[in-house]
Amino acid sequence: MNHDLVIIGAGPGGYIAAIRAAQLGLNVACIEKERMLGGTCLRVGCIPSKALLESSELYKEAEHSFKDRGINVGSLSLDLEKMLSQKDRTVKTMGGGIDSLFKKNKITRYSGHAMITAPGKVRVDDGKDPVELEAKHILIATGSQPSTLPGIELDGDRVGTSTEALAYEQVPKHLVVIGGGVIGLELGAVWSRLGAKVTVLEYLDRILPTTDTEIANEAKKIFEKQGIEFQLGCRVTGVKANKKTCDVEIADGKPIRCDRVLVAVGRRPNTDQLGLENVGIEVDKRGFIPVNDHYETSVKGVYAIGDVIGGAMLAHKAEDEGVAFSELLVTGYGHVNYDAIPSVAYTNPEIAAVGKTEEQLKEAGIEYNKGSFPFLANGRARAMGQTEGRVKMLADKQTDRVLGVHILGPRAGDLIAECAVAMEFGASSEDIARCCHAHPTLAEAVKEAALAVDKRALNF
Ligand code: FAD
Ligand code: NAD
Repeated sequence: MNHDLVIIGAGPGGYIAAIRAAQLGLNVACIEKERMLGGTCLRVGCIPSKALLESSELYKEAEHSFKDRGINVGSLSLDLEKMLSQKDRTVKTMGGGIDSLFKKNKITRYSGHAMITAPGKVRVDDGKDPVELEAKHILIATGSQPSTLPGIELDGDRVGTSTEALAYEQVPKHLVVIGGGVIGLELGAVWSRLGAKVTVLEYLDRILPTTDTEIANEAKKIFEKQGIEFQLGCRVTGVKANKKTCDVEIADGKPIRCDRVLVAVGRRPNTDQLGLENVGIEVDKRGFIPVNDHYETSVKGVYAIGDVIGGAMLAHKAEDEGVAFSELLVTGYGHVNYDAIPSVAYTNPEIAAVGKTEEQLKEAGIEYNKGSFPFLANGRARAMGQTEGRVKMLADKQTDRVLGVHILGPRAGDLIAECAVAMEFGASSEDIARCCHAHPTLAEAVKEAALAVDKRALNF
């Protein structure tokens, strides 16, 4: 079978690249080894975790906040099976949506494990009838999988990764999360809200290592108030598990007994059994596939995007690379601005950021002004009863150009979009401050933070 472009992996990187390339007139095939299209993000990542975050948050609100508002819901109980099936339905519906998009765009789908056998040649093995494909161009979009630690054996039951933590059939009594990154905090929050005791063990002396330190420290205090325990500077040396309990062993301390362990210490690229050696592609020290700014690997005609090339392991980064790759291939033009990629942790409150942190600016010797505005002084946040957190804006001292925005607060993940657009257009803080923002909205906190850069916030 001949194709202009054969894509390996139908995650957000691969399936979006396929659609864009098909829109631009290429004959495209996409190979996926799992039954459902959509990759990690749809099957065991972004979407199921957000479904559970939304449901668990509603449960928590019904338990605590409704009464304050005069809403009596009677006696509250949890039907976990139903909550999990709502999550599964959401995933299934969206998977079907991608199937339809493939049909609409006339993308040929192959099911099975793909391996590059020679330049321009890919074998698809579905366990029955292997197929050989010929391609002018090959795109690797195979994504990533959870990492683990020496001394920890993942048993897919008591000791597991995010994949298991999205489907516990019972609320754990005590969940120990190894790793205070975004997965640890999001899934820790889900199970804490549903009634588990949650202890997060983090190797560093802080949580969320890539987040602005001031914002991460403030977030930690809020999560502690919500009942999550943290042990920072904690080196896990192993886990001993039996059918009912686990003992998490730590250096310089007593083992912690619990009934579930979630290992969330990062993810590693999927490059095994891909046939990279057949064409002479070497991976870097951390296992990522090196590419140039056209997403070309060291071998002509073979490209890579998404989690497998490293950088921020985010679905929207993979998607934007998919679009840029296909446009570069067909038109010669395509671009991702890596300085304006937002990131969001969907905790409560959410934590969102775009651009540089204060630490990065200090390290680079860039002088900046800082404006900060607390949600406590925002009318909409007050009306919602969600006043924790702030918007912090960092702008170049000389030019006033916005260099970074960090938001801890309600709907931070939605508010950050305005800031990413502003940065993409090279806006100054004054540009944002001069834009009319509707009242009463949370977005007014962004405008006020922009005003605060010039020390003229109006409502604080
Ligand atoms: P993937 O989505 O990993 O897709 C790669 C696909 O390739 C997979 O379907 C895999 O089966 C297939 N594949 C691999 N090897 C082969 C082969 N040899 N042959 C055939 N098929 C193959 N990101 C966000 O931006 N927002 C979030 O809220 C978010 N939440 C997350 C929550 C969790 C619990 C996790 C684990 C991740 C989350 N992420 C989130 C990260 C996000 O899922 C990834 O960044 C994103 O999926 C990367 O897309 P990708 O296309 O590069 O790879
Ligand atoms: P992460 O890199 O965000 O965090 C891992 C944490 O584990 C770090 O804080 C690290 O210091 C800690 N750690 C590492 N080794 C340790 C050890 N031995 N003991 C204790 N702690 C240790 O990784 P993650 O949380 O596993 O997430 C993986 C990827 O998935 C991230 O890159 C993230 O971008 C992506 N993701 C994104 C979202 C989102 O955008 N909302 C949600 C989930 C996952």
